[in-house]
Amino acid sequence: MNKTIINNLPSFTKARKRYPSKIVNFKVEVPESVTAKLSGKSFLIRTFGCQANIRDEESMAGLLKAANMQRTENEKAASVIIINTCAVREGAEQRIFGQIGNLKQLKLINRDLIIIVAGCVVQQEESLVKLRKTFPFIDIFMGTNAIHKLLNLIDTKITQNKKVVDVPSDDVTVYENVPVERIAPHKAFVNITYGCDKFCTYCIVPYTRGKERSRLPEDILRECKILVDSGYQEITLVGQNVNAYGLDLKNGTTFSYILEEVAKLGIARLRFITSHPWNFNDEMINVMAKYPNIMRKIHLPLQSGSDEILKLMGRRYTVKDYLELVSKLRAKMPDIVLTTDIIVGFPNETEAQFLETLKVVDKVNYEGAFTFIYSPRSGTPAARMVDNVSREEKGKRFDCLKELVDAQTETNAAKYVGKKCRVLVDGVSKKDINFLSGYTESDRVVHFEGPLALIGKIVEVKIIESRVYSFLGELVNE
Ligand code: SF4
Repeated sequence: MNKTIINNLPSFTKARKRYPSKIVNFKVEVPESVTAKLSGKSFLIRTFGCQANIRDEESMAGLLKAANMQRTENEKAASVIIINTCAVREGAEQRIFGQIGNLKQLKLINRDLIIIVAGCVVQQEESLVKLRKTFPFIDIFMGTNAIHKLLNLIDTKITQNKKVVDVPSDDVTVYENVPVERIAPHKAFVNITYGCDKFCTYCIVPYTRGKERSRLPEDILRECKILVDSGYQEITLVGQNVNAYGLDLKNGTTFSYILEEVAKLGIARLRFITSHPWNFNDEMINVMAKYPNIMRKIHLPLQSGSDEILKLMGRRYTVKDYLELVSKLRAKMPDIVLTTDIIVGFPNETEAQFLETLKVVDKVNYEGAFTFIYSPRSGTPAARMVDNVSREEKGKRFDCLKELVDAQTETNAAKYVGKKCRVLVDGVSKKDINFLSGYTESDRVVHFEGPLALIGKIVEVKIIESRVYSFLGELVNE
């Protein structure tokens, strides 16, 4: 007797295609079996990876809350555990396997425990086969575009006592009004696009998250208005490539339009992530410069400082384009803070091309950078490239780049000492419970002493010490 119900299996062939997308207004219905079995019980969600995954977690939590479940951080108390995975690099995927392995014991203790694996790892054919073989105790595999089905998948598991696999690669519907349970009470992520069509040759996202598709501006503005009216202090507009917002709507809607409309709602702090230099235009720069509540901090992935490597990566811009964009941003907003992503050791990268990357990093002088050794993702064009750069050489280049980036980060961090910064207080510091912690407008962490009543508020803090990746501060004004 087949113990697994297969609704949809991931397919790279389907994932490569671009299907017309549509927008559907979702209506939550809680199946009887879910109410009977799980009402009043607890769930635990562990998310890895990007802001899009965190926002997906909030939808999963919203659906389980609709079934009258509540969140727990205690694995033993949970009746449903969801591992929300990230596939951006090999390392991230390996960590997931370790995490899931640890759940076996819990399942032996509690046979009714429902274990669900979601996110980008299950969207890859090979990884899903490996997960199913390695962890036969997993009950449900849920794809990145099957989250709205969560309660139905649990219902199938309960009523038919079978495992369920629902990982479509060809459903690019935008589901609006899926319930949301926000993780933080004062700052929120708001999706504006899903998926990506850039097909950078090293990247798995266009296959795991599908076609680039925008939400309608009225749906985004409604979600943001609810947040502003509920007292939220910060909104981050999220997409794999936010600057491409609206292009697929083919009605003239643009990222600069939605950015301006959200800024006009009066939110104290507005951010957006992730930007693609290729789609970043003057209109967007002008809107940023016009609204002081749009934070002067941009994450602008460079990836490589060599035009040949950028071409092999399929990044669609040159170093000259990138540096011109940086100059335009700094001309309009001299206090703009830039961070970036850089990959070293891309297939066939020469020493000279690597040195070009160092030159650009030196020229831009970033406030921070995420640096990675190239990690082949099965199914991507780059993974089929013959790679003549040794592991050892990649390691050397990574260390060399890290040294430069750390020095830049340290020097730029030191410039904050003595300055007063506006800080959105997140909560009690994870480092020291006698301290609060929060983020500056440039997204730097500050720890300082202050009353708990300040949590969720924007306060003025004087930076008294730089610890490179965080600051020690002193409360100036509440
Ligand atoms: S822009 Fe490129 S790197 Fe970014 S998500 Fe899209 S394909 Fe991946």
